[in-house]
Amino acid sequence: MSESIQTGAVDAPRTVVVIGGGQAAGWVVKTLRQEGYAGRLVMIADEAHLPYERPPLSKAVLAGEADIETVRIARPDEFASLNIEAWQPDCAIAIDRANRTVTTRLGRAVKYDRLVIATGGAARKLPDSIAKSAHVTYLRTLDEAITLGERLRRSQRVLVVGGGWIGLEVAATARKLGVEATVIEGAPRLCARSLPNEVSRFLLDLHRGNGVDIRLNVQLVSLDDHGDGVRATFADGSTLDADFAVAGIGLAPHTAIAEAAGLDVQDGIVVDEFGQTSDSDIFACGDVANHPNAWLKRRVRLESWANAQNQAIAAAKAVLGVKTPYAEIPWFWSDQYDVNLQILGEIPADVTPALRGNLEEKRATLFFVEDGHLRGVIAINSARDLKLARKWMNQGRAVDIAALVDTSKALA
Ligand code: NAP
Repeated sequence: MSESIQTGAVDAPRTVVVIGGGQAAGWVVKTLRQEGYAGRLVMIADEAHLPYERPPLSKAVLAGEADIETVRIARPDEFASLNIEAWQPDCAIAIDRANRTVTTRLGRAVKYDRLVIATGGAARKLPDSIAKSAHVTYLRTLDEAITLGERLRRSQRVLVVGGGWIGLEVAATARKLGVEATVIEGAPRLCARSLPNEVSRFLLDLHRGNGVDIRLNVQLVSLDDHGDGVRATFADGSTLDADFAVAGIGLAPHTAIAEAAGLDVQDGIVVDEFGQTSDSDIFACGDVANHPNAWLKRRVRLESWANAQNQAIAAAKAVLGVKTPYAEIPWFWSDQYDVNLQILGEIPADVTPALRGNLEEKRATLFFVEDGHLRGVIAINSARDLKLARKWMNQGRAVDIAALVDTSKALA
């Protein structure tokens, strides 16, 4: 029997269950209440903390400059006022779609009218055949960031496996703390999947200039205990010793529960522009969801702060029958040393960017123009340029490359 009540054309849910307790889940529950949903709201999360934001974890939290109070999505009293049954720490282990029931590891069960899956993902792990040392760590959760930070501050040398965003931000924080850092990357350049050559090169110079030992094209064979620390052995037979290793080698989305429930899963839980899955009563958002992106004109699973928040807001509204498509231009940023780097839109591999400013001076904007229109922008310490570009992109405005690169005139 359905537990829904009818309001106008839409079945208003009486019970909404949210699986997950990260940024996306936090925004789902906040938005549901903001939109006037007054029914039962259950949030099942495996972390003890209330929802928090992850960007500071590899920076201020790791450096010991921020804690849970700084990163929360809502203060505990604000969260309490939302009247949410937060089942945490607990873990949803099965979705019975026929009976619309979620069961948890602690043996609880809840019937839903609408379900939102915002399970995010876990740090990808190195295979056991490589990671044979107890001194191999990962950074995904607040508790991990706090523990890692304490460890970093009493270490002399850290080995970072992976030259992606986690790896580079951890290396930058290590240097800030006066800790020696070596980054090993299997690929020939840094952040190769998200950045063009010239920006990979810029980051390489930035880190080397700050004293990081960056090694590209490196094949790691094993990480073994060595004294009180870890010894890395590489394919060429060379070795490197460090107090401990942090691996940032990507994210594995938590899709198992959705897959087991028979939902459509292809590199993430497949959703439409409203966050609805192949089951009309089940929604998904954040790192775990694969959505049709209007700007990129393809399906994509985005692992970013902005996506976690704004896709969650759209999904929460859709849960209540308010259909506002999630159609934002993908946006991502990173802070390393004195550099703020932002990426907006599509960075096509076959487009040579128009460069405004100077990479050597750590202030530049790369505009990726196709058919007279901006497809994407990378801003290095030039957040205002990116803000303007975002406006033009949303307006579909044509741009003139000569004007974009002319620093003698204001971009606006
Ligand atoms: P990532 O950005 O995908 O980078 C992982 C890197 O590790 C890639 O360059 C990858 O190379 C490399 N790699 C994989 N296996 C390796 C191996 N065995 N040895 C050496 N290198 C290896 O993922 P991440 O840095 O782990 O970050 C995880 C998630 O957190 C992502 O969603 C990321 O966007 C997010 N994050 C965001 C921020 C931010 O917003 N500023 C900061 C930190 C993290 P291949 O590509 O060749 O596999």
